[in-house]
Amino acid sequence: MSHTFSRNPADLILRKRPASCGSSITTAGLGRSLFWNERHAMPAKRPVEDRFWEKVDKSCPNGCWEWTAKKKFGYGRFFVNGKFRQAHRVSYEMIVGPIPDGLCACHKCDNPSCVRPEHIFLGTHAENMRDAVIKGRIPSGDRHILRRHPERAARGDRSGARMHPERLPRGEDNGYSRVTSSQVIAIRAAYASGGVTQRELGERYGITQSNVSAILMRKTWRHV
Ligand SMILES: [Zn+2]
Repeated sequence: MSHTFSRNPADLILRKRPASCGSSITTAGLGRSLFWNERHAMPAKRPVEDRFWEKVDKSCPNGCWEWTAKKKFGYGRFFVNGKFRQAHRVSYEMIVGPIPDGLCACHKCDNPSCVRPEHIFLGTHAENMRDAVIKGRIPSGDRHILRRHPERAARGDRSGARMHPERLPRGEDNGYSRVTSSQVIAIRAAYASGGVTQRELGERYGITQSNVSAILMRKTWRHV
């Protein structure tokens, strides 16, 4: 069943069926059958543009068009097509055109809640990050979180490698390994039985003398 709803909110008065009447009622004057209950008495859908622009303040002295409604991480949020989207992206798409997949809509004005299309340019994520560092949105150098709070770094027994050693790719799983665990065992055994230098072992297995030394000293392949 479909109804043509009036856009005037004053017309959207909930009409209750009279208790005596089991079927739909006809309202005099409108001349059409109404079957409204709590579920059907929904406000008519308003155009997306209306809903969007009424949340924008264009009077900012810096020329930005400020989003005045819901925000997340400073970015405006706008509910459209069943989900929340970033308001500045919606604005760009409404006025300029679609944003190709994978591109960021970046702010020239560095104001995340600004939805003025002239203040928005398209870029890759890498460009956006570079821009963010240059403009100081990302603390680096002496402002970096680990410079300001070195005690927060997970070092020593709190490091990921100590807390979850099973998650580290060891040996051949590492992807950078030049030898296999069975070769490591063979190298250690050969050196222990004597008569061969580290350099010779390195040549035999295609690694350098310092690789061999690290294996023998158990700086690498400690788990084997
Ligand atoms: Zn702006």
